[in-house]
Amino acid sequence: MLPLERQKRIKELIKRNQTMKISELSNELNVSEMTIHRDIKPLIDEGFVMKTFGGVTLANNEKSEHHHSTQCIICSREINERLAYRLILANNKIEVACCAHCGLLRQRQLGESVIQAICPDFLKQTTISASLAWFVMDTSIHMGCCHPQVLTFEWKEHADKFVKGFGGEVFSFNKAIEINFLKWNEHSPCHKEHH
Ligand SMILES: [Zn+2]
Ligand SMILES: [Zn+2]
Repeated sequence: MLPLERQKRIKELIKRNQTMKISELSNELNVSEMTIHRDIKPLIDEGFVMKTFGGVTLANNEKSEHHHSTQCIICSREINERLAYRLILANNKIEVACCAHCGLLRQRQLGESVIQAICPDFLKQTTISASLAWFVMDTSIHMGCCHPQVLTFEWKEHADKFVKGFGGEVFSFNKAIEINFLKWNEHSPCHKEHH
């Protein structure tokens, strides 16, 4: 199969399945994972798919043609791509939260049924795996989304530097889920009943 044909086929597969692992694509098309990586590179560049941990997922602009999930699953706010947090569930469903604050709350609610979550790196705007990300809270920069605000970074070094400049605290994924929940509870006890 020519690379172009393969790319077309990859596009079809991802459109149908929304998310796919590199290994699945490699099996499906009978080429090495290395080849798949090379094939999907232009698809990532053109914004058709987003890279996830070990695979790819259909990018939002494509998705919104088929679905109308442009509101946050937790607070119904409009989704701002700069902060959006996506949860990929065991049934292949994708949920979108407006920011890491709502994303982490949802993550806590769903627990094991979340296979993977992705969010943007605050500085680079690349898509990163949330479970490997670093979470900055209580910083002086306000993005105007939810409280307590949670910003996500791929590298701890960047998160640390950010905190040095703008204040706040850095947490790992598991810690961030708990701290975010505790802070949200203590700051707005009235919200508890609604969720
Ligand atoms: Zn939200
Ligand atoms: Zn938010």
